Amino acid sequence: MAQDFALITRDVPPPAPGEVQVRNLFMAVDPAMRGRMSDAPSYVPPFALNAPMEGPAIGEVTASNHPDFKPGDLVFSRLGWREIFNAPAAALEHRDRDALPPSAYLGFAGSTGLTAYAGLIRIAGLREDDVVFVSAASGAVGSIACQIARIKGCKVIGAAGGARKKAFLLDTVGVDAAIDYKAEPNLTKALAREVKALGVKGIDVNFENVGGDHLQAALALANKHARFAICGMISQYNVTDAPTVPKNLTMLMTKSIRMEGFIVLDHKDLEPQFMADMIAWHKAGLIRQAETVHEGIENALTAFNGLFSGDNLGRTLVKLGEP
Ligand code: NDP
Repeated sequence: MAQDFALITRDVPPPAPGEVQVRNLFMAVDPAMRGRMSDAPSYVPPFALNAPMEGPAIGEVTASNHPDFKPGDLVFSRLGWREIFNAPAAALEHRDRDALPPSAYLGFAGSTGLTAYAGLIRIAGLREDDVVFVSAASGAVGSIACQIARIKGCKVIGAAGGARKKAFLLDTVGVDAAIDYKAEPNLTKALAREVKALGVKGIDVNFENVGGDHLQAALALANKHARFAICGMISQYNVTDAPTVPKNLTMLMTKSIRMEGFIVLDHKDLEPQFMADMIAWHKAGLIRQAETVHEGIENALTAFNGLFSGDNLGRTLVKLGEP
């Protein structure tokens, strides 16, 4: 993999008419970038060969040749994986420097936060008193999904890999029950045990990030009319032979389960309400974002690989400059 990447240094000219120059402060890495490293049909085109990688980033305007932007403005772009760049103004979005710290706009107040929000509130139709199961619960999307579900009055069971992540879920994220799936020979039995310990019948909502045995466990413990928001299936992204398909898919029918996949880009209309809720919840101390921060663009690939080895906790970022 490392041999497929090159770190290139080049001069950046002053911005041309209509362009803005930005110094990135942080870029984020996402599992979805793995899909764009293949030319298989998808909802976004593959990365172009011999071109800079793209991805969410937050930066500061250093020079502007467009009236809507001035030096010092905080801006979001999808042009990460570069330290300084010129871009047309249309590729940049303003962010409020005073409302939140810059990195928050790549995490709980960015696309991973919106993914958790849209998946629970719109796709799953979250209701107070739901029992919610979240996989990859200590990650960027999962940890925010757990917190939103708690804020909405639900009971939450989170699954993550390792004792450190289990403790993080219980002590920091504030779930009602946590499973270290790496320590469990049978995830379905582990979920059944936690459901019983909580004194509930089963789960009403599954927020799926992993797929495979996690989805199988969720189907096994689902209540009748459960709603499954299929956000991701990271356990399958690097699989080159047959994917792992749950053996109990017939439960979709026998339990009248509604399963729906979604892509966050289709739910940007939720952004105004989402941003207002997130800022209010953050100010009230109800939403916290753990971050795994790698220093320097030369460590971007290490940061990305950490998503698949599970080295990360919370949102995985690369710091590219001093805020
Ligand atoms: P995370 O911060 O959650 O990092 C990925 C985590 O996935 C790792 O920390 C690891 O946690 C877990 N993981 C990796 N490989 C495996 C495996 N083989 N089996 C089980 N767990 C594994 O990433 P994100 O929050 O950015 O993404 C989480 C999910 O959400 C992904 O599936 C992603 O594709 C999806 N997503 C979907 C979006 C949409 O629009 N639908 C938008 C954004 C993300 P652990 O150590 O616990 O195993």
